[in-house]
Amino acid sequence: MTADVVETAAPKPSIPKNPGRRELGLKATLLFPDRDIVQRFYVPLIYTACRTCYSELEPDEIFRRAVAGEVPTPKQQKLIAGVIESGHGSTIEHIVFTFGISGVSRTLSHQLVRHRAGVAFDQQSQRYVKFKDASTMLPTSIAEADPALRERYESQIEGALGAYDELVAGGIPGEDARFVFPNATRTNLVMTANLRALIHMSGLRLCTMAQWEIRRLFQLIRHEIFSVSPFLGSFLAPKCVPLGYCDEMGNRDGHCPIRPHKDQVLEAWAEKAKGARTLPVR
Ligand SMILES: Cc1cc2nc3c(=O)[nH]c(=O)nc-3n(C[C@H](O)[C@H](O)[C@H](O)COP(=O)(O)OP(=O)(O)OC[C@H]3O[C@@H](n4cnc5c(N)ncnc54)[C@H](O)[C@@H]3O)c2cc1C
Repeated sequence: MTADVVETAAPKPSIPKNPGRRELGLKATLLFPDRDIVQRFYVPLIYTACRTCYSELEPDEIFRRAVAGEVPTPKQQKLIAGVIESGHGSTIEHIVFTFGISGVSRTLSHQLVRHRAGVAFDQQSQRYVKFKDASTMLPTSIAEADPALRERYESQIEGALGAYDELVAGGIPGEDARFVFPNATRTNLVMTANLRALIHMSGLRLCTMAQWEIRRLFQLIRHEIFSVSPFLGSFLAPKCVPLGYCDEMGNRDGHCPIRPHKDQVLEAWAEKAKGARTLPVR
């Protein structure tokens, strides 16, 4: 290497900042069920689904015993945890959670409604609602950017919302005027998901590779589930946690340290296997 050639390592991308550190003005509220229903029936219901597979008893009797406390809760939870860890997911499709989600951007809702299995959505219409004061999301990177850049963003948003008002005032139907709305426009949804879907979605969306706003939403969702059942809430985690390794291509450099990347795990495994093969025969 000549003296004038300097090798510089590519800077490591850092873990995206926890979006929970800034108030984003979005909400996730567990509408149903409440704590009493969850505590009384949800664990017994999953337990009944699990136990039915291995019992001569009829499901209604298993359920009665579980609700009556004749089967201790820790015993029910132990079976449920084992079944979830083994991936027998149908057992946790029997319980559902309904959330009111508000103040999220259309950027977020577009990602959220990509989830298809075990989840239902209803979203505020931009056809039927004529917005008098549409509000928008301000990303932290722009909030903390050079004031001139922030101003550029804000004037663009104001221009779009102003154009919407003028179009509506000029008799253009809301369904057409909405074409000028930016991705930043806030929206509201109702989402119902069964526990299996919720664990799957949380696995993807709590991952540090997920976009910051949807990651924040799933932090709020996890908080809501925790508040009615720490046991069920404990299953909502980035997917690397139950897997034991990270499978995201974008984390091959290992910049997110929650779990080692699978390349590293396989490398260590190959090394170990090689070591075992070269052991001298005694
Ligand atoms: C970090 C990140 C980046 C992303 N980037 C992009 C992007 O750039 N462009 C883009 O278009 N999308 C992107 N997505 C969205 C992604 O591709 C999925 O559409 C979304 O996460 C929904 O997840 P899912 O496919 O697991 O669906 P869900 O509906 O949540 O399904 C759950 C599971 O059910 C099974 N399932 C559901 N439907 C079927 C089916 N029809 N056939 C067989 N099995 C099925 C699958 O096992 C699936 O994993 C991104 C998602 C994440 C988390």
